[in-house]
Amino acid sequence: MIVLIRNAEIFGPDPLGAGDLLVAGSRIAALGAVGPHHGSAVTTVDARGCWLLPGFVDVLTHPAGGGGEGGFANRTGAVAFEAFVEAGVTTPVGALGTDSITRSVEELYGTVMALRGRGLAALMYTGAYRVPPPTLTGDVARDLVLVEPVIGVGEVAVADQRSSQPTVEELRRLAADAQLGATLSGKGGAVLVHVGDGDDGLVLLQAALAAGNLPRRALYPTHANRNARLFAEALDLARGGSFIDFTASTTPALLEQGEIRALDALLQAIEAGVPGARLTLSSDAGGSLPHYEAGELLGLRSAGPEALLGTLRAALERGTSSFCAALAAMTRNPAEALGLRDRGRLAPGARADLLLLDPASGTLQGVMCGGQWLYRAPKLPVAGAGEGDAR
Ligand code: ZN
Repeated sequence: MIVLIRNAEIFGPDPLGAGDLLVAGSRIAALGAVGPHHGSAVTTVDARGCWLLPGFVDVLTHPAGGGGEGGFANRTGAVAFEAFVEAGVTTPVGALGTDSITRSVEELYGTVMALRGRGLAALMYTGAYRVPPPTLTGDVARDLVLVEPVIGVGEVAVADQRSSQPTVEELRRLAADAQLGATLSGKGGAVLVHVGDGDDGLVLLQAALAAGNLPRRALYPTHANRNARLFAEALDLARGGSFIDFTASTTPALLEQGEIRALDALLQAIEAGVPGARLTLSSDAGGSLPHYEAGELLGLRSAGPEALLGTLRAALERGTSSFCAALAAMTRNPAEALGLRDRGRLAPGARADLLLLDPASGTLQGVMCGGQWLYRAPKLPVAGAGEGDAR
């Protein structure tokens, strides 16, 4: 199966100008001035007017649902396959959260494999908020080595009333186990750390890294845009070589409480001299957005995967450099943070995980994952063998 996408404006995620992209099987075979290809096995898509982007790598999603704070009625539901596709998320990385009692890593594994069965390149973390973490095989390193979709540990909670309040030694041990599993399996092995609004902020992470022998990428904090104090601490961590993640989904109440919009956080961090390559954006899809005041739960909403596409649209309105910075933070940077060498960019040999964006309307015209169209707009001109293959 060969697909030729012609005349698109290519962002890989850096701007590469107008050109063509050739997909052979599940991979990108060529990029640039490919020219016309003929033959019964070639489907040609005329993408004139569209921007061609890598599919989003969303480093924090809860595909099996999350929540449960304040009682069972507050559990959030699973995220539908269609919701990820419509949002352009070709690699959702699934995590458990607060609840690893009525939810399990096994259930998460099943949900991730179901998304894969339908064509998404889903991955997962072992563990949850709690320390010691729940696992599939009884051990974090064994999960990384023996279970193919497991690429790290997360989200482990610190600075939060829902955290197990791990010690520096416990966090170091967890990161070290993940690094051992990563070394043996050739994976990234990051520990994605949920940072709450506790006064201790990133103190634990700073101490764990300062004690030595762990690579800076071993601990990867998320929700770093939760408030101005945490944001400033996170920028210091990123200056020291760590990746940091900003959460794109939000609520008016969270913004009122001091959360910095993810796009503002990203652009402010770059403005402040933090290397842009260490900054990532995630949706927290399926996670609960609890509204606490003085430790009391007042309400709860569920986040969706569309937060990334919404952030990219907002970046587009601010100009090309903002757009490219936001796109890199949803594609190449998160792939790098998680050690995923085969995705997050458009290059020969990379997975054919692609989005076609209409820049005028900000809508997706096509979503391809592993060389397979998961969505293709009816108005996109197509010629050749595969005319009936759109789903
Ligand atoms: Zn979280």
